[in-house]
Amino acid sequence: LTTAEQNVLDKIETEDVDFLRLQFTDILGTVKNVSVPARQAEKAFTEGIYFDGSSIEGFVRIQESDMRLKPDPETFAILPWRNDENSAAARMICDVYDTSTDEPFEGDPRYVLKSALDRAKEMGYTVNAAPEPEFFLFEEDEDGYATTTTNDAGGYFDLAPKDLASDVRRDIIYGLESMGFEVEASHHEVAEGQHEINFEYDDALTTADNVATFRTVVRAIAAQHDYHATFMPKPIPKINGSGMHTHLSLFTEGGENAFHDEDDEFDLSETAHSFLAGILEHAPAITAVSNPTVNSYKRLVPGYEAPVYVAWSDRNRSALIRKPAARTSAASRIEARFPDPSCNPYLAFAALIHAGLDGIENDLNCPDPVRENIYEFDEQKREEYGIETLPSNLGGAVDALEADDVIYDALGDHVAPKFVEAKSQEFEEYLIDVSQWELDRYLETF
Ligand code: GLN
Ligand code: MG
Ligand code: MG
Ligand code: MG
Repeated sequence: LTTAEQNVLDKIETEDVDFLRLQFTDILGTVKNVSVPARQAEKAFTEGIYFDGSSIEGFVRIQESDMRLKPDPETFAILPWRNDENSAAARMICDVYDTSTDEPFEGDPRYVLKSALDRAKEMGYTVNAAPEPEFFLFEEDEDGYATTTTNDAGGYFDLAPKDLASDVRRDIIYGLESMGFEVEASHHEVAEGQHEINFEYDDALTTADNVATFRTVVRAIAAQHDYHATFMPKPIPKINGSGMHTHLSLFTEGGENAFHDEDDEFDLSETAHSFLAGILEHAPAITAVSNPTVNSYKRLVPGYEAPVYVAWSDRNRSALIRKPAARTSAASRIEARFPDPSCNPYLAFAALIHAGLDGIENDLNCPDPVRENIYEFDEQKREEYGIETLPSNLGGAVDALEADDVIYDALGDHVAPKFVEAKSQEFEEYLIDVSQWELDRYLETF
């Protein structure tokens, strides 16, 4: 056993852990669990835990269904809502292995992100990421089902008494901190019932693990308070939706921020400019991954602080990418504002990173930033500035993904076709559905 693995065994003893949840995510980003008695931890490290992969979304065909989970000891954490005096449950995030080859399984989203990070490493970089996930807290009905009644009527940075959710948010933060999160800030968001919690940046793999954990913790602790937390991007029309702004920077092996250049007008290096240009270039295809639901595209409309047009800015928040002000050279970074929290964070980060690295490899030229409010541009002005529009629905995004080799390849041979298949099907189902809006509009008119 490695030292980290031995440490886990020790903690299992001292913290009275009786169950271990071994976690991984499917292609759609849903966290999956295999629960094993804690005494099997050693075996989990040495042999792995076998499971049948054929029942996991997009994993494998039936005839080749044996998978093995290899827990990452660095991700050991006690679940705060399953922790009492003499028993506790803990989780570890796992890498998935294919038992027939004993190689990492290509269909594991964590592996897809690791491949992107390997490419960065070959180019001399490590990748840092920090997300800003937003979510709504809704009341539950008498039967415990989610409603879309917001739990408060607060607004941006509002404080109690309007912000009734602050005690829920506080418990969520305690829960996150007990699992090792460094929570930087939390606040009420613009919409009623909407919240945001920011945590400290980390390497992109840890951050993707953290996003997966974050969503689980937020939902579990909200449920303890009889609230339903949702990361659905646009649960209520005509008010702000929930995004997951993602801050990215590359560091060199020597620990220098490769995005920083103090002589540049925007304090961004040549490398950062090309990385940014790569994301702009591949943005339509990336959206299929970073904004992967039908509902995602109801958020990407003008007027609600979510991007619609492919441009960057050092000022305004209607742009796809923003350059946030940085106090130190280590903090120079770019903020991708289009991802939303319904994405699979491993795949979304992989797509963003490959796009950016592609920009660096091809020395892409970065356009000038746009400082005006792009929502107010008409078509002619957008044409004049050369500003493209993001796909307006999931179908368009999937088409863009299929047409973009860089992003399609970023997902790998296993995930890319399965992802396209799953998302095309989701979009087709949506197209044939008849919505409440249509009934309201047409039923009595015709
Ligand atoms: N909710 C907005 C979005 O959809 C972001 C608002 C903000 O963080 N200023 O991206
Ligand atoms: Mg924020
Ligand atoms: Mg926000
Ligand atoms: Mg932000």
